[in-house]
Amino acid sequence: MSEPNKGNPVYSRTDTSKVSLNPDDWKKILSPELYYIARQKGTERPYTSVWEKNHEKGTYYCAACGNPLFVSDTKFDSGCGWPSFYAPVTKSSVIYLPDNSHGMSRTEVQCGRCKSHLGHVFEDGPPPTGLRYCINGVILDFEKAKEKESEYKKKND
Ligand SMILES: [Zn+2]
Repeated sequence: MSEPNKGNPVYSRTDTSKVSLNPDDWKKILSPELYYIARQKGTERPYTSVWEKNHEKGTYYCAACGNPLFVSDTKFDSGCGWPSFYAPVTKSSVIYLPDNSHGMSRTEVQCGRCKSHLGHVFEDGPPPTGLRYCINGVILDFEKAKEKESEYKKKND
């Protein structure tokens, strides 16, 4: 894996302590694209994320802080143009806020660790939850499941 988070001191996949930075500090450690989505509640153009059609097994982490957000088992093809999941990794992985911007009544989803904007959740998802977490791919960091890696290693040893 490349090091997209080099120079980001708050990025950790094991530290669960909350991250709270002011906008200037976020701006210093995030790429402009990530800053726009994560901290300015931007939305990437639909069908632009490499993760939208990703069917590999693994975990999706918050690209701003490394918090595990979703696993591939809960990912589904919603056809909406953004990576979609029906449940977060754990209840505390994400937090919810009412969003009444753009003349719509929606529920915003933020990272439970660093409060970065992830996307929105809608009630038209598949069972078992009936929810559709519509998430910007820019804010997701994907890592393939370890199991698969070791299988691969075995074959190539
Ligand atoms: Zn985060």
